[in-house]
Amino acid sequence: MPVTNIHYHDLIRRDADVLWHPYAAAPVPIAPYAVKSASGTRLKLHDGRELIDGMSSWWAVIHGYNQPRLNAAMTAQLQDMAHVMFGGLTHEPAVLLAEKLLAITPPGLAKVFFSDSGSVAVEIGLKMALQYWVSRGLPEKKRLLSLRQGYHGDTFGAMSVCDPVNGMHYLFSDLVMPQIFAEAPRIAFSGSWDESAGDEIAALIETHHHELAAVILEPVVQGAGGMRFYHPAYLKKVRELCDRFDVLLLADEIATGFGRTGELFACNHARITPDILCLGKALTGGYMSFAATLCQDFISETIAHGDPGVLMHGPTFMANPLACSVALASIDLLEESNWRNSISNIEGWLRTGLEPCRTLPAVRDVRVLGAIGVVETRDLVAVEKVQEILVANGVWLRPFAHLCYTMPPFIASEDEIKQITAAIYSALA
Ligand SMILES: *Cc1c(COP(=O)(O)O)cnc(C)c1O
Repeated sequence: MPVTNIHYHDLIRRDADVLWHPYAAAPVPIAPYAVKSASGTRLKLHDGRELIDGMSSWWAVIHGYNQPRLNAAMTAQLQDMAHVMFGGLTHEPAVLLAEKLLAITPPGLAKVFFSDSGSVAVEIGLKMALQYWVSRGLPEKKRLLSLRQGYHGDTFGAMSVCDPVNGMHYLFSDLVMPQIFAEAPRIAFSGSWDESAGDEIAALIETHHHELAAVILEPVVQGAGGMRFYHPAYLKKVRELCDRFDVLLLADEIATGFGRTGELFACNHARITPDILCLGKALTGGYMSFAATLCQDFISETIAHGDPGVLMHGPTFMANPLACSVALASIDLLEESNWRNSISNIEGWLRTGLEPCRTLPAVRDVRVLGAIGVVETRDLVAVEKVQEILVANGVWLRPFAHLCYTMPPFIASEDEIKQITAAIYSALA
């Protein structure tokens, strides 16, 4: 039970006095909505209103809020230990979760490094790639090739591989490591593949392979950098190019992992295994900030045989037992659910519900893949105004730039998806 019960308007005012919000000024210019509690697909606001969460709290809450099995897993773990350092110690939740992740991710991945957030998992992946080449005696292979419209997190290494424009590289121009960028993949997920669509990245890899540590990309779905769905053949092509030119492939599945795109992992659409894989967001069903970086054995072995023989990274809260336990329970829930069916239902409902948006003058494109529905607008979305209409229609979404999009919890019903898509239509109309 909360010890205080601050009045709604007081809470908003006191928030403005002391808090930063994501990608915002402080004080935040648009007052946030205050949430009192959340259950199932619903956010309950302080003022009593209820909203369907069409965002799954940024891809994470796939099973819904206040989920009994996830609550039970965390409560049970709490009785044993909330946390213990991972240097020199180990515990059952970490071992079981690592084994589980290796069992469900693309074949060939063999080692798991746990960390606290997606951005950190990307930093660790980049460090693995860079240290691998140092260990192989090829330290000149230290640059990264990334895709325009990509997003990989907000820390400095991750920022360097985000889209240079969306990622605002100009702000820190001489501090962000200069990387190499390929055009965003141009053939849509369900478009017809044309070999020439891989020519540009092929030329970049061929030209730069002697200085390239890795290619980093979000497989199939480019998330926060533009909500684009691209053809799996592109991924296959990049895998082949990386093999041919001895460049590592790092797949960032922080947004796409755990079923969101209709496959358990987006790499499965192309049946490829990356050398390094980053997971986060839905890993704990949205209960804890937690992430993982997986790699193939040849990477860990090469680093072990190099100098200094260890991977130089070790977060204080590495492999936090509460997070490991709830992640295990979340994956169990997913496996026991008929998730393929749920996602394919949601995909169908989103297609039907969003299709009418195509006729709106404000709309440039409508696209749906798995449990992700995107409406791209011609002009920048007036976030405050659009959000007001969405909230008035009982729906929580967080549009940005030219995008009004939804990735609802997998438990969302047909009526709830209808309510979300109808709210998007009203707001954009
Ligand atoms: C959200 C996201 C990240 C960053 O994760 P955080 O937990 O916010 O640090 C990295 N990569 C992708 C693809 C993401 O969607």
